Amino acid sequence: MNDAASYIEPDREEILEIHRRLVDAYGEPQPPSHRDPLAELVNTILSQNTNDNNRDLAYDQLRERFPTWAEVRDAPTEEVVEAIRPAGLAPTKGPRIQGALERITESQGKLSLEFLRDLPLEEARDWLEEIKGVGPKTAAIVLLFALRRPAFPVDTHVHRVTRRLGLIPEPTSRAKAHTLLEALVPQDLYYPFHINIITHGRQICHARTPECEACMLQDLCDYYRAQRKTKEAKDGP
Ligand code: SF4
Repeated sequence: MNDAASYIEPDREEILEIHRRLVDAYGEPQPPSHRDPLAELVNTILSQNTNDNNRDLAYDQLRERFPTWAEVRDAPTEEVVEAIRPAGLAPTKGPRIQGALERITESQGKLSLEFLRDLPLEEARDWLEEIKGVGPKTAAIVLLFALRRPAFPVDTHVHRVTRRLGLIPEPTSRAKAHTLLEALVPQDLYYPFHINIITHGRQICHARTPECEACMLQDLCDYYRAQRKTKEAKDGP
């Protein structure tokens, strides 16, 4: 794969071609019509290090037990922890959620993140990332999914697949990948590109054994080219 020295930044055509092939394979995902940014924030904190089913179960239990965000904020922490247990890491996530709700209340005088719609993007991002337990991915998800702001979230699948494809240099950290991919991917494609790369990572470009022979991106992929070269050097062309 490419290291920082051999990295060649892909051009817009290459990104568009990858997007087209992913859409052919997985369809064109449409952004959700309306999501409350505060609900999105809590949901995303719950999703850290777990799967969608467990996250949804925890979220539903939390809302059932505490119908308003003020009740979640003011509840004894152990009760919040108990309600979100299906999401895993509940003793960490419970205080994080309550801490986020407290910070929003202190700053805004109410439990709402709607004010982020009107802040300059970098200010909105910084504001979110100042909340304990909120990193670049969580902030970008809230901004993109709920507020339709141009932020590109990088999860473990996006990080792995985009490095293998050579869209970003191999040693790039996940935090840095946000900045690089935001500069590379056209803003109007952030949502579908993000969703389809995740689908590709789950279905084909697995972490341990990518199914390169079944992949529609072979000819555009640095990892595939490197693997082939190594094989040819070993077996002969
Ligand atoms: S060719 Fe292999 S490594 Fe490259 S994107 Fe496809 S599955 Fe992933």
